[in-house]
Amino acid sequence: MQQLPLHSSSEVMDRILVVDDTPTNIKVLAGALVSRYQVQVATSGKAALKILSQEQKPHLVLLDIMMPEMDGYEVCKRMKSDSATRDIPVIFVSAKTQVSDQQYGFDLGAVDYITKPFEIPLVLARINVHLRLKHKSDQLEKLALVDALTDIPNRRALDDCLDREIRRSVRNESPMSILMLDIDHFKNYNDHYGHGAGDVCLRSVAKSIENCLRRPGDLVGRYGGEEFVVILPDCDETCAAAVAEKIRDHISRLNIAHAKSLVSDHITVSVGIKTTFCQSQNSCDQVLNQVDNALYNAKKSGRNCVMAAT
Ligand code: GH3
Ligand code: MG
Ligand code: MG
Repeated sequence: MQQLPLHSSSEVMDRILVVDDTPTNIKVLAGALVSRYQVQVATSGKAALKILSQEQKPHLVLLDIMMPEMDGYEVCKRMKSDSATRDIPVIFVSAKTQVSDQQYGFDLGAVDYITKPFEIPLVLARINVHLRLKHKSDQLEKLALVDALTDIPNRRALDDCLDREIRRSVRNESPMSILMLDIDHFKNYNDHYGHGAGDVCLRSVAKSIENCLRRPGDLVGRYGGEEFVVILPDCDETCAAAVAEKIRDHISRLNIAHAKSLVSDHITVSVGIKTTFCQSQNSCDQVLNQVDNALYNAKKSGRNCVMAAT
């Protein structure tokens, strides 16, 4: 039987970090927020940065300016210079009411500036606006990295990941492998079954590749058209060949009828493999060229097969 989730609303509550060195200010603000948000508090800039360095980041920060040791401006500066906290909206809440103070706050990247004494309903309204905007931009950022047809990472996400993994491979002196897959005679498939059926096939192939990947760092993305790229961190030639063969076999076993393929009666893929080693600081383009060559050789050797770059 399906169980009703207990306190499900608390799980989706946004987290707000309130930073102020005066306990009464914290009490007033936190008191007004606690029924709608998960509230975290810090009484110094240093304590705020510590909370901000944790894995679970707040969705928004209410930041006092005048604090001993490290003021709010400095906290904001540090947040904006760190990619992990850059996108968290900061609202200054301060008794500094001069135009130049407020202007400086905006220059540092704050989204809003509330002067003390404040009106709680207006504070809540402003928080609400900025959280809505934050969620919208997070959503857009996610969408910008996902392929709309297959719902897997797109070319841009692949490029980002490849760049990251090549650098990691050099740093950790570990091998990494890349697979490039291309559906065999897919133009004939579209011509025979129609573009709609082609789209369905692309989705099935994407899902099948995804299901073959077991390790958390592995990633598959749509490289373009009917081509997919798989990134396998910490994976040498033997490991890559095994994963490639597993994927080729799984896609073949989907048994998607392809009457116009010249190599089989169902959908098949050709796969190129390139394994790179730490000592060679390869660029993404270089690696992609090499794996593309391997794929080209797999096509030339009769398709529906796996070929490693030499
Ligand atoms: P090969 O075995 O040499 O790879 O031949 P191929 O026909 O698969 O290769 P080709 O590059 O000639 O054709 C690729 C086809 O993929 C043509 C194009 O219509 C189709 N395609 C690319 N993107 C999409 C898509 O988003 N949806 C559908 N349905 N088809 C697509
Ligand atoms: Mg192609
Ligand atoms: Mg093809």
